[in-house]
Amino acid sequence: MKHSVRLILLGAPGAGKGTQAEKISAAANIPAISTGAIIREAIATGTEMGTLAKSYIERGALVPDEVVIGIIRDRLQADDCKDGFILDGFPRTVPQAEALDQMGVEITDVLSIEVSDERIVSRMGGRRVCKACGATYHVESNPSPAGDKCGICGEDLTIRKDDDPAVVQSRLTVYHEQTEPLKDFYAKKGLLKIVEGQEKLEDTTALTFAALGLN
Ligand code: AMP
Repeated sequence: MKHSVRLILLGAPGAGKGTQAEKISAAANIPAISTGAIIREAIATGTEMGTLAKSYIERGALVPDEVVIGIIRDRLQADDCKDGFILDGFPRTVPQAEALDQMGVEITDVLSIEVSDERIVSRMGGRRVCKACGATYHVESNPSPAGDKCGICGEDLTIRKDDDPAVVQSRLTVYHEQTEPLKDFYAKKGLLKIVEGQEKLEDTTALTFAALGLN
């Protein structure tokens, strides 16, 4: 790659940000950083931050800005971020985006993956995640080669609590109210690119790579 990519992926929960982040990460050799995954890991290991975050995440609400801003501030200082990174699920509010600016982080691309609410709701029921390594699958569009086990580490696949239909509905409301305004925030900076999420994963990946100039 010619230049370093510091990318933000926007999009509703279930739009496919995590999957695209993994593909871009492999192609561009930069880390994909998911605040959701970091929080779920903290909940699983029972850290203080995890205990605080649990009630928010399980009802589909956002974890307080200062918590996620702290997570990102620490994570971006790691050595593997010096040649670029992908942010999957951060920022999710305007104050979080402003905090990134204040940290002096210069974002090069913002890509919004657009999928209708209706399709999100029907998709979420099929999502599966590996409890051990965090890999994500979908029973129809992206099945694990190992069936109900993880294709990477062989552990059991599970359904996230916040993929429950009622929780999905509140996450969509939160997305429209708090996260969608970020499209305007980054459009004004001339950074926003839109990708229409496709039925087939590989079609969305092709559009995503084209938008980023990757191949
Ligand atoms: P995700 O895996 O990105 O869908 O995130 C799952 C959940 O983690 C969200 O529904 C929030 O409760 C929490 N979360 C993840 N990232 C953020 C963020 N940037 N701001 C606030 N809460 C977040």
